[in-house]
Amino acid sequence: MLKAHETQLEIDLSALTHNYNYIKSKLKTGTKVLGVIKAFAYGSDSVEIAKHLEKLDVDYFAVAYTQEGVALRDAGVKRPILVLHSQSVNFKTIIERCLEPSIYSDYVLKEFIKTAESLSQNNYPVHLKFNTGLNRLGFSEDEIGDVVSKLENTSAIEVKSMFSHLAASEDPNEEEFTKLQISRFKTIAQKFETQAGYKPWLHLCNTSGIINYPEAHLDMVRCGIGLYGYGNSVEEDQKLKPIATLKSIVSQIHQIKKGESVGYNRAYKAKGDEKTATIPLGHADGLNRIYGKGKGYVTINGKKAFILGNVCMDMVMVDITDINCKEGDEVIIFGPKHSANDLAESANSISYEILTSISQRIPRIFK
Ligand code: PLP
Repeated sequence: MLKAHETQLEIDLSALTHNYNYIKSKLKTGTKVLGVIKAFAYGSDSVEIAKHLEKLDVDYFAVAYTQEGVALRDAGVKRPILVLHSQSVNFKTIIERCLEPSIYSDYVLKEFIKTAESLSQNNYPVHLKFNTGLNRLGFSEDEIGDVVSKLENTSAIEVKSMFSHLAASEDPNEEEFTKLQISRFKTIAQKFETQAGYKPWLHLCNTSGIINYPEAHLDMVRCGIGLYGYGNSVEEDQKLKPIATLKSIVSQIHQIKKGESVGYNRAYKAKGDEKTATIPLGHADGLNRIYGKGKGYVTINGKKAFILGNVCMDMVMVDITDINCKEGDEVIIFGPKHSANDLAESANSISYEILTSISQRIPRIFK
């Protein structure tokens, strides 16, 4: 039940189950699933999401930073956790907390071997990341020889998997480039196997890669946004279920006359006799000021209520001139019917940003 004057992010775990099963249905039997639960599981709450995914028998998790992995271990999450953006300052913690680093550069490789040897590790699992075109993190193809010789000189670590990341798997106009990334990755994997004499698991696909490039599913897929119910296309969005609904309430209603202004900077001036509702949610909660001045809208009693003027830190005012509502009525900022994509579109943003921007002061309620 929504409490008075409280905004909350409601998380529907049955929708998460649906999305997980939908992603699984796209895969051949035996292809592993890694759930990407970085950034508080895309804003929803990584611990609850991880525990639910463990019940669904997910194979792996990934987080961006070591601290995110530590929080999951503190909460009792047991599955292997890949730290995508591992940093040498945290290598000791990574090993102590049974996290598995992405090794993406010569420096990172040397430092991790040093730490693993100093802690007397044997075959500690690591994941080699290669750059195939995103130009963000990863070894290049011509570093394979060096990597292999460093690996041959230590027994402290073992390459459990090799991976790369697609730059534009959601974009049909970039199909040729995505196919180039896939073929580069397969070449890299082949060269590594020939030089090292063994074949680690391979993984490349994010959500849109899973959907659009079945030939690139390989041994494991890394699914993020799809688990949370967004598919980066109208068609896929219909098959997935957004797990998060950001809800609030109408705190107060004002009748205003033509020419009167609303909010800071007097950024909105009434064009006639109008009615406004004040909602306890602002830019400190993730409702960016960019949604202000009539760009974004919320839903009240099934109708669109556009944002008036500037979004305040803890509040926002919306136009309810044509909406029948009263104080205490429910307000939906986004959810299954009015998705984070709709809000994102009004601000040239993407669902990822909307979901991950919801502040930690908003309670997460699980159902
Ligand atoms: N793999 C890596 C390396 C990522 O950084 C991300 C997210 O940014 C993902 C997988 C998941 O991507 P998506 O949310 O599009 O499924």
